Amino acid sequence: MKYYSTNKQAPLATLEEAVVKGLASDKGLYMPERIKSLPRAFFDTIENLSFQEIAYTVADAFFGEDVEADNLKQIVYDTLSFDTPAVKVKENIYSLELFHGPTLAFKDVGARFMARLLGYFIEKEKNKQLVNVLVATSGDTGSAVANGFLGVEGIRVFVLYPKGKVSPIQECQFTTLGKNIIALEVDGTFDDCQALVKAAFMDADLNAKHLLTSANSINVARFLPQAFYYFYAYAQVKKAAAGKDLVVCVPSGNFGNITAGLFGKRMGLPVTRFIAANNSNDIFFQYLQSGEYNPRPSVATLANAMDVGDPSNFVRILDLYNNDFNAIKRDISAARYSDEEIAATVKRCYRDTGYLLEPHGACGYQALEDNLQANEVGVFLETAHPAKFLETVEHIIGEKIEIPGKLQEFMKGTKQSIELPKDFADFKDFLMKV
Ligand SMILES: *Cc1c(COP(=O)(O)O)cnc(C)c1O
Repeated sequence: MKYYSTNKQAPLATLEEAVVKGLASDKGLYMPERIKSLPRAFFDTIENLSFQEIAYTVADAFFGEDVEADNLKQIVYDTLSFDTPAVKVKENIYSLELFHGPTLAFKDVGARFMARLLGYFIEKEKNKQLVNVLVATSGDTGSAVANGFLGVEGIRVFVLYPKGKVSPIQECQFTTLGKNIIALEVDGTFDDCQALVKAAFMDADLNAKHLLTSANSINVARFLPQAFYYFYAYAQVKKAAAGKDLVVCVPSGNFGNITAGLFGKRMGLPVTRFIAANNSNDIFFQYLQSGEYNPRPSVATLANAMDVGDPSNFVRILDLYNNDFNAIKRDISAARYSDEEIAATVKRCYRDTGYLLEPHGACGYQALEDNLQANEVGVFLETAHPAKFLETVEHIIGEKIEIPGKLQEFMKGTKQSIELPKDFADFKDFLMKV
């Protein structure tokens, strides 16, 4: 299968090229040339299949032409070494818990898949060269990428993060790993880290010396595998939703997660409609109101992984719907919540149902409460574990919450990081010598 760029000015790419490059040369995002429909029979018996079996069927539709069956199966099964259960919160509302992976957030699925697929391509190359992944993080992306790539042969990961600006819980998830993960503590902001990564990709000397790539969330190998759990969610609620319409609500920032769900719908997944839940960064909500897309600088909120002012995957949605605004509105609606509303939702849901949300999932839950019709069953994506937002959540509910064992393990590890100034010359010097 070939991949085209949303800007349509770059040559078609193979899967390997799209994964290694990330972004097309015309700065567009890669899209698969075809989206295959899955057969009726698959949906008829889907509830009898395991998560891994379902995911492999979906992965085969995307990647089956480019990766041998045995290898693809191995990649899928290794990636999904944890469950994503759909848990009933109250009548007609289910939480798809995507936080049972190594770093307790949904980004684990895409990061683990991408690492393994990249590892597969490296293995196939004749003159194997070490691949260097550069990733700038304000917290969560670094941990998902670092853990996803941990121990994958032929790959070395450099995580750049702003010194003193990442929570201790987040920091320990990528600084205690060792092996092929190198944490670089930059004396600057997240934007400085991102600028260093961008400059490195543009630098001729560095590119001559090293094979450099990014593990950005726009990468097709991180983005498409997120479709897996939408199918599994359907399998889990199919019986409860029989005779009703299924609505899926996705707390959205860069809109990669929801776009993967829209791909699922295009493949035949019986989801009637999607809801994109925003925080105060309501660019998409406003777009659906007015038909105009007006990106603007993001503001900080409690649901900080959704603090995005110019969602990078918006162009993929436009492309998927051929720029047809009405078609987009038929499939997707939006909701937006302020910090006060998010806090009130976490508190009320916990009090009334005993189910503890975190700020991102709270937007999703609330959007279902506000929009679900009588004939509908709703699933919202709970994108992280509440303990990842420990202080916020404990403050809202006025109780201490338990930190999962996995997170405690990270906190016990020894921090290993290399301090760097924010100047490119120093970063370049460092990379030239490693
Ligand atoms: C990244 C993230 C999101 C937003 O997902 P997008 O694919 O960027 O829309 C939501 N919640 C959490 C916890 C995240 O880490």
